[in-house]
Formats: sequence, structure tokens, C-alpha cells
Amino acid sequence: MKHVGIIGWRGMVGSVLLQRMVEEDDLHDISAHFYSTSSAGDPGPVIGDVSYTLKDAHSIEALAEMDIIITCQGGDYTKSIYPALINHGWQGYWIDAASALRMDEKACIILDPVNRANIDRAVEDGIKLFVGGNCSITLSLMGLAGLIKADLIEWMSVMTYQSASGAGAKHVRELIAQSAYINRYLSSEELATSGSVLPLVNKVSELINSTDMPTQSFGAPLMGSIIPWIDSDLGDGNSREEWKGEAETNKILGLPAGTIPVNGLCIRVGVIRCHSAAITLKLKREVNEAEFATLITDAHPWVNYVPNNKEESVSKLTPAYISGSPQVGIGRYKKMALNNEPIYSVLTVGDQLLWGAAEPLRRMLNILLGRV
Ligand code: NAP
Repeated sequence: MKHVGIIGWRGMVGSVLLQRMVEEDDLHDISAHFYSTSSAGDPGPVIGDVSYTLKDAHSIEALAEMDIIITCQGGDYTKSIYPALINHGWQGYWIDAASALRMDEKACIILDPVNRANIDRAVEDGIKLFVGGNCSITLSLMGLAGLIKADLIEWMSVMTYQSASGAGAKHVRELIAQSAYINRYLSSEELATSGSVLPLVNKVSELINSTDMPTQSFGAPLMGSIIPWIDSDLGDGNSREEWKGEAETNKILGLPAGTIPVNGLCIRVGVIRCHSAAITLKLKREVNEAEFATLITDAHPWVNYVPNNKEESVSKLTPAYISGSPQVGIGRYKKMALNNEPIYSVLTVGDQLLWGAAEPLRRMLNILLGRV
């Protein structure tokens, strides 16, 4: 029976991962071990009638007992622990949600509905480092898999609308706290619909910018606003999140760097869960909506095509509708009026905690265990 270590299980990604593993009965016939960076020795999760005690996530000896490690603890943890474990002589499989090792030449980025052949080849070649992709890229590729398989994409501009939970547990709490902070100062009379709305708008704008607004995690208000920068500043006009777009897309697809140019802006929005991306696509030829719908829906079972009309877009292509679902929605497909070139717009919406994070990790475990 394989020993499988799970690190980061109480974080945003880890808690969804654990929920999915329990739902899909992934813990059967393995010996699961839960680790913590902050409370080793304390009680961990209770699953069925088993109560787990937390092991020390900083103990190389305790980690080295595992055949497979799945970590959603974050990049700093990966950077400090993974090299130490390898130097210790550990030869197990490391499955990671963090970006730290994604572009390592020995790493395979995992997104099996899109690149299962690359994953199988990596396993056969003895690769032991498997890393989930950036959540926005992963969800865009899940939506566009049919176009990718048909080799129809010349370039992409990806404008993201990324949810607060994409930044982690503390951040999504902060967005909810910001909303609660504003609500605390509003009376039912002020919220009533009669009279001018301007005093209400002015008061809320002042509250959003007040120094008492909780902004410790994000560093800026998100409720009623946007944050137009995600991850570090590369100093060339791009954020690291934006740089990942092209680098990871081509690596996931097994293409030489830069084969499909990808660029855009990555924006944090006041959404609780689910990342959206408005994508401008230059295709290699004209593809009408009917052909697009067929290509997209034939690619894999986790994509839902939403016809480009107001009623279905408003009801089925939103974070509110898609949160918690493994189906990635794709719609708003239309040809853009740009010199009659085959340039199209499309919107993808997907739960970044599922296909953007937890799902590829648990499926990689199942691939290594020969279950899928
Ligand atoms: P997170 O919610 O901040 O959790 C990471 C760790 O923070 C937890 O395992 C926990 O470790 C510790 N922690 C400290 N205070 C906590 C609190 N109040 N509640 C819960 N955990 C707390 O981070 P995450 O969003 O899951 O991201 C983990 C990794 O996955 C990152 O590298 C991230 O870039 C990547 N990722 C995230 C997403 C996403 O949508 N969030 C998507 C794709 C990839 P201990 O239990 O050991 O203290």
C-alpha cells in the first residue's frame, strides 16, 4: 500500500482537494498521512471513522517515508523543502499546486484532459515531479481544448477576472470582511430605493477608501473595486501572472517556448470563487459558431458550451452559476470586426479551485496509482 503525504490540506486549495478526494473515494487502498507547517502533533482531519494526527511538514525524515507527496502549501514551502528532500535521497513522486517548480526542466505540468499523452510519457521517462498549472491558464486551456487539438490557435490575448479565493484563504476572508465592514455602516433607510442614490454611492465610496477598511492581505480594497496586478512585477510592464500565460501554455502543450504567443492583463475582481477570462483568439482559419461548439464539446467531458445569446450567457456563464462545478463554461463566441481576419472573442468561466488547482493533483495521484 502506497504511503501518500498530504500537505496544505487546510488551505484554500487543500480543503477543496481533500473534499474532492473524499467524494471520489481517492483515499481507499492508500495509507494517507497529513502534515502541517504550524501544528504538528495536533489532531488533523477526521475522515470516516479515522482521526489523523498531524505530522511535521518540516521534518525531512517524516516526509521521506512517503511514496507520493501532494502539496498545496505554497511556493516558499516547496522552495525550501523539495531540494532538501531530494538531497536526502528521496525518490518518491512530488505533486505540487505551487508555481515554484513548474518551469523546472524536470517538471511536467499536469492537466490530463489536455496533455495526458505528455503526462504518460513523463511517467515512462522516470519524471517524478508533477506540478499543477496556473489556474487561469489551466481553465482557459480546458475551455479551448477542442481548438488546441485541431491546431487552430495562432495567438491569444487573455484578459482575466480572477476571484479572491485564488489568492488563498486569508484573502477570500478579507473580501468578505470588506463587504461586512461596509454593511455595518448602512441603515435600511439608506438602502431603500426612494430618493436620490447619490448620497448612498458617496457614502459607500468613502467607506471603501477609509483607512478602517480591512486591506491587510490584498493591500487595497477589492469589494467595489478591482486590483489590476497579480503576483510580482517583472519590471518590463508584465506581472509574473501574465508572464505565466505564454510560458505555461506552451509547456503544458509540449510545444517549444513561444509557439503560441499569449499575452494579456490579469485582474483581481471581487468574486468569491471562479476565474473568468475574456480571450481574443486569432485562429488559423474561419470557424463558425456551430463548428466551434462541436470542437469544444467533443474535446472532453468537463466543458460546457454556452450559446452566444443574452439569456444563456447571463444564466449559465457566470461564477455564481459555475462555482463548485467541475464543468468549465465557454461562451460569448463571436467573430470580431477587425479587418475580416479570423479573430474571435470568447469567455471562459471555471472554478479555479477544481480544474484550476485540486482536480489535476488528485487525478495525477490516480494516474500514478494506475486508477485512471
Ligand atoms: P492558502 O489558503 O493560503 O493555504 C496555504 C497554507 O496556509 C495552509 O496549508 C495553512 O498551512 C496556512 N494557513 C495559515 N493561515 C491559514 C488560515 N487562516 N486558513 C487556512 N490556512 C492557513 O493557500 P492556497 O490558496 O490554498 O494556495 C496554495 C498553493 O496553491 C499556492 O502555491 C498557490 O499559488 C497555489 N494555487 C492556488 C490556487 C487558488 O485558487 N487558491 C489555484 C492554483 C494554485 P498549515 O496548516 O501548515 O498552517
